[in-house]
Amino acid sequence: MSVAPLPRVIEPLKLVEQRIDLEGTVALSECQRLQESVISCEGDIKVALSFGKDEEGLRVISGSLQADVTMQCQRCLQPVSLAVAGNINLAIARHEDAVKALPGYYDPLLLSEPEVELWPLIEQELMLSLPIVATHPEGECEIDTSYQDKDEEIQQDKTNPFAVLAELKNQK
Ligand SMILES: [Zn+2]
Repeated sequence: MSVAPLPRVIEPLKLVEQRIDLEGTVALSECQRLQESVISCEGDIKVALSFGKDEEGLRVISGSLQADVTMQCQRCLQPVSLAVAGNINLAIARHEDAVKALPGYYDPLLLSEPEVELWPLIEQELMLSLPIVATHPEGECEIDTSYQDKDEEIQQDKTNPFAVLAELKNQK
């Protein structure tokens, strides 16, 4: 796979007409917004994109991305390194009405001019692929989850509606 950076600016409609496949990288150092939502990220986002039309004639950009980021584990609050992978499923729309008409399985790419900045687009797609709650894998977290599960069970017992019913019965 090519390791050259993706072009910063592309003309999506041209690439769709030519059915271009693009492979390349976006430097994580370029991704300011992403950096604000993770502890750290180094290296590149590896990206593969295919431009073309689907069976319904919609102009689509599909592909995948992959990057290593460090987020905060929401269990032990320590840093956790994550390999984030995501799919890209964009459909090009030329105006707002066309956006509404797109099938739900596409993310709309509203194109008001021929050129679009590709790097922020890839950054945005990566941010959508970040886990909402980052945690260490089972067994690697500093907080033993088996204890936490027990705590949850005990808390559930307290609010168990049947326990309340049993109390009512006893009062009779
Ligand atoms: Zn953890």
